[in-house]
Amino acid sequence: MTSLHLHATPPGSPQPITRLADLPGLKPSLRMPVVFVGHGSPMNAIEDTTWRRGWQKLGQQFGDSAAAQYPVPQLILCVSAHWLTRGWQLTGMAWPSTIHDFGGFPQALFDVEYPAPGWPEVAQGLVQVLQQPNTQQPLGVDNLQWGLDHGAWSVLQPMFPAATIPVMQLSMDYSRPVSEHLALGQQLRALRERGVLIVGSGNVVHNLRAMARGVADNQAHDWALEFDTLVSRHVRSGDTSALASLIDGGPLAKMAHPSHEHYLPLLYTAGAVQPGEAPAFFNEGFQMGAISMRSAIWG
Ligand code: ZN
Repeated sequence: MTSLHLHATPPGSPQPITRLADLPGLKPSLRMPVVFVGHGSPMNAIEDTTWRRGWQKLGQQFGDSAAAQYPVPQLILCVSAHWLTRGWQLTGMAWPSTIHDFGGFPQALFDVEYPAPGWPEVAQGLVQVLQQPNTQQPLGVDNLQWGLDHGAWSVLQPMFPAATIPVMQLSMDYSRPVSEHLALGQQLRALRERGVLIVGSGNVVHNLRAMARGVADNQAHDWALEFDTLVSRHVRSGDTSALASLIDGGPLAKMAHPSHEHYLPLLYTAGAVQPGEAPAFFNEGFQMGAISMRSAIWG
């Protein structure tokens, strides 16, 4: 005779949160949009560039006034190209530190702080609701290593300068195949009905070795233009599997992304999009001919 184990946890211990509806903290909301931002050079954080103005304008669409298009997010969940881990992790600290993860830039850039709060209680619940795409285990909580890297704060500071909205970063397991990044993005979709603004921060084209100074914002290498056009086409048609396979090899993809960490955040945001939601592009153009600043908002 076999025995039935009705309780996965011993009686009396708290049940794990497995449904978003049971998660404390986040309230049901109108569906939030999804944003992919091309972040480019860290200098965009302190210089008055076209790109920075685009991020400022985007942030102004969120608010309580009648002119605002979207409500103020309850939480910003940012997937940045700059946090790569083994196993997926979520920042869980109450006050994530501003990380200056670059070298060779002016002191003014190292002086930037983005003092947004985290949200430990929600992080503890979210890691149980979300699953590692490869093992179906909960995500890890990081309370020590990370914080907000420049992929997050360089775009969030212009968007939300008051730094009052809680921010969490979601890492990317760079050892895992592209399809799993897309799969985790699809898991994020439901968070949009809980006031979560998902922000992917990377670049549609990112080849630092091919950068050329003095090139106009609307000019780029032929291969950069070609890859950027392909991506925009797939984003527009909502073809997420084409977006995923686009980066999986071939000389054009290798030129556009010698390493593909700046492309992956796009897959998280594209995965979080509902079928039929059309994107609106902004900040189209290039930095130094080899960094596409193309950004998109869906919803
Ligand atoms: Zn970057």
